[in-house]
Amino acid sequence: LDLREEDLVIGRPMGEGAGGSVVKAVHRPTQTPMALKFIRVDHSIRQRILKELQILHECNSPNIVSFYGAYPKDNGVQMCMEFMDLGSFDRIYRQNGPIPVPVIGRVTFSVLQGLKYLYEELRVMHRDIKPSNILLNSVGFIKICDFGISKAMDSSIANTFVGTTSYMSPERMNGGSYTVKTDIWSLGLTLMELALGRYPLRCEGESMSLFEMLSYIKTENLPQLSDTEFPPGLCDFVAKCLIKDPAKRPDLNGLLSHSYTRESAVAKVNIEQWAASLELPDF
Ligand code: ADP
Ligand code: MG
Repeated sequence: LDLREEDLVIGRPMGEGAGGSVVKAVHRPTQTPMALKFIRVDHSIRQRILKELQILHECNSPNIVSFYGAYPKDNGVQMCMEFMDLGSFDRIYRQNGPIPVPVIGRVTFSVLQGLKYLYEELRVMHRDIKPSNILLNSVGFIKICDFGISKAMDSSIANTFVGTTSYMSPERMNGGSYTVKTDIWSLGLTLMELALGRYPLRCEGESMSLFEMLSYIKTENLPQLSDTEFPPGLCDFVAKCLIKDPAKRPDLNGLLSHSYTRESAVAKVNIEQWAASLELPDF
């Protein structure tokens, strides 16, 4: 696909995060709907970022949002990606309440498959697993987006990423480097959020400073999913993801062989049908 800016018909804004804003668009020659993400970056590193993004063209997984291309625009870069018509899971639970348990199994399996692809094929970690980076379409696919592919981009917007810290693992808060275990922590928090229909830690919303929030996550006993309300397999899976000591927390292979993952992999869940039942405003 030869992507040219003048072929894109810009549509409605879909949301704004710490790193940029997303609008819907249609690629006129092919009638392909797209999501365009604009990211402000320093002029001096723009070419390097665009070059680093090129490897996304080789990214081809049913659990990762497709990349169509990127180009320089104003004081940043515009990334063009697959449009997921039902949006992200935070939007879905905010409008429709907690995500049903069978669907959470599907989300778990899909995200693990997506992470496996990132680690094994692209050799990158995700670095920003959270409900707003897990997307759904009406065909029933669940895909992850917004992973840290570009080192230059990371360093240029790192300072503005304060909003994302609430999914940050204790070892990262201590200034440790990213490892696969960091993504696992974020996945645990994310699954708990989908099951409860709200951010699970009590530090959100109350006017806690960043410092207070970090020390809360490091020192307090975190809430757990109750196994009178949720399947024990899911509760155990989440509890393992949220083990504070990264050395004791399972890695991706540990989670792939967890009984909850194996059960979720073969469970018959009609995501397409559930997706059709959702009440969501159009983009
Ligand atoms: P954040 O992920 O922190 O919410 P983003 O700027 O990455 O911020 O995205 C803003 C919103 O746009 C997301 O919450 C999501 O609902 C929506 N969005 C992002 N990418 C897509 C996409 N490819 N298809 C559909 N919706 C998307
Ligand atoms: Mg995002």
